[in-house]
Order: sequence, then structure tokens, then C-alpha cells
Amino acid sequence: MSRKVLVLGEVRDNTLRNVSFEAIAAGKTVAEGGEVVAVLIGDTVSSLANELFYYGADRVVTVEDVKLKSYTPDGYSQALLAVIEAESPEGLVFGHTALGKDLSPKVAGKLNSGLISDVTSIEVAGGNTVFTRPIYSGKAFEKKIVTDGLVFATIRPNNIAPLEKDESRSGEVTSVSVDIKDLRTIVKEVVRKASEGVDLSEAKVVIAGGRGVKSADGFEPLKELATVLGGAVGASRGACDADYCDYSLQIGQTGKVVTPDLYIACGISGAIQHLAGMSNSKVIVAINKDPEANIFKVADYGIVGDLFEVVPLLTEEFKKL
Ligand code: FAD
Repeated sequence: MSRKVLVLGEVRDNTLRNVSFEAIAAGKTVAEGGEVVAVLIGDTVSSLANELFYYGADRVVTVEDVKLKSYTPDGYSQALLAVIEAESPEGLVFGHTALGKDLSPKVAGKLNSGLISDVTSIEVAGGNTVFTRPIYSGKAFEKKIVTDGLVFATIRPNNIAPLEKDESRSGEVTSVSVDIKDLRTIVKEVVRKASEGVDLSEAKVVIAGGRGVKSADGFEPLKELATVLGGAVGASRGACDADYCDYSLQIGQTGKVVTPDLYIACGISGAIQHLAGMSNSKVIVAINKDPEANIFKVADYGIVGDLFEVVPLLTEEFKKL
């Protein structure tokens, strides 16, 4: 069944986040040959439209207002609901990011619609659009279909591959004007924490440290390896609780969920709550001096050894490539 699908282009620091391009690819599957319309919300965002076309959007709709400079649930939902009213889509796809997780239930509630959240793959089978999502902290997967009404889903970053970039693609950009009012939240200032380098939730390579790094300085060899591999540094809650790093790096059930191509766990025991945030990574390497550590049960490659010896060796070897 062919559908018109709206996809949210997520903007941070005047740049589109990768998940926006993944959402376009997901939107194409949901559209089943129908139109994929990307929505850009912000104060001045229309210059980003081309990038959305390169990744497959058929059309772009912008909502620009100085009150939309920073994300607020009230402001963004007013903007989106106006676009939804103007476009009457049959499908909606957002990234399952902090923003998407906050905004999607609010919009779904206003539309009296269901929502399939944290989707890791979408396929068309037996005449249905089938959404797969992890449950029980990633121990099982469930498949869902929408039998009636709006097809609304959020997709987990790094799971659905974007279409190949094609700079010859272009399309029509239109704008919807909205009187953004009655904002209950006004963002005065954004203070970034530990945001240097690659964004952890979208990183293709994550080097994560646990209590085994033993101190804040113990993260230095991990940072070096991450730099060489173009990746991001993450952590277990054990490392965060011990004050070796900021909680914004925490991966797991009560932290971030990551699915990079390569996850290197250094000095992490592999508690179930940590596995919930990383066990769907494509390739997992574990470095731990305890051969019985639980992390080896989910690892594709295990190195039994002292991380302070192994990590610098890996860094030296990767530098040669
Ligand atoms: P440890 O379990 O202490 O493991 C340290 C490991 O380092 C050991 O395996 C040791 O052999 C190894 N090691 C030590 N020195 C070296 C060395 N030199 N070289 C190599 N290896 C070495 N945890 C999370 O991570 N994320 C979460 O989101 C999360 N949420 C939680 C929610 C709840 C409700 C609860 C109760 C707990 C949660 N936890 C979470 C905590 C979790 O249960 C574990 O306590 C935590 O993951 C342990 O962190 P760790 O593996 O770094 O530390």
C-alpha cells in the first residue's frame, strides 16, 4: 500500500544528524513507493534541505521561527502538527533520539495515534509493513504491524542504512508558517557536556571503559584509540559512578543505547544492564583480565589481558593501517 510519509530531519548545531538520512531510508520502505517528505524545524534551516534530497527525500517542508531555535516539546509539536495538517500523511518516521523519544509520544497523543518506538528494521512482507523492535533489554525482538490509521515509528540510530548519497537529486522546498505560542518552556542557554569528537549515539566505533580503567586518566589510552579509529568513547555505569567520566558517556539500560559497527569494551565485566545498551553492536571486542568475565559471552573477539597493555598495542597497529 503506497503511502505519503513525513520524516523528521533532526538538526543539531546547524547540521543534520545522520539519523535523519536513516529515517528517509526507513520512510521509503514505509512509503512503499509513495512520497517521502522531510520536515525541517528551526530558526533558519532551509539551507539544509539539499542534503535531505541527496539522501532520497522527494520533497522538503520547513517551519522556521526564532522560537524554534532550540528544541522544546511544545514548539516542535505545534510546528509538526501544522505540517501534518497541511500534508495529511499516512506515515511518520522520527529518529529514536533524545528529541525523537520526547516528541513522538506527544505528537502521537495529539493525533490519537499508535506509535512503534525504537525500531531496528522494517520490511514489507505478506502485504504488510513489518516493524522489528527489541524488547526485554535486547534479549528478544518483536515484530509489529499497523492494521489501522497512521503508521508512526521511531527508528534506533545506526540500524537502518541510509540510501547512497546522490548529489544530483533535488526537489521542491515549501514552508509552513505557524504561530508558535503558549510555550511552557523557553531554552535560555544550552550547556554541552563531554561533546568533543564523534556523537556517541551515532558513532560507528565505540571504545568503552569500565571500572577496570581505574581512574579518569585511565580513559586516556581509550581516547587515543577512539581518535585513531574515528570513534567515540563510552563508559559503563561502574566507571561513571566511580567518577572516572561524565554520565553522558554511560551506555546501558539507564544510559545510551548504541549499535556501532565496532564496540570495544575495556575493563567492563558485562553486567546485564550494560549489555542492554550495546549487545546489538555489529562486532564486539572485549578486553578483560578475567577470563570468566560475562562480557566474553557476548563478544565476537575476546582478549584476556591488561587493558593498559592491550589498548596501546591496538592503537599502534591501527595507526599503521
Ligand atoms: P565491574 O563490574 O567492577 O567490572 C570491572 C571489570 O574490569 C572486571 O571484569 C575486571 O576483571 C576488569 N578489569 C579490571 N582491571 C582491568 C585491567 N587492567 N584490564 C582489563 N580488565 C580489567 N551499568 C551500566 O554499565 N549501564 C547501565 O545503564 C546500568 N544501569 C543499571 C541500572 C540498574 C537499575 C542497576 C541496578 C544497575 C545498573 N548498572 C548499569 C550497573 C551494573 O549492574 C554494573 O554494576 C556495572 O555495569 C559494572 O560496571 P563495570 O563493568 O565497569 O565494573
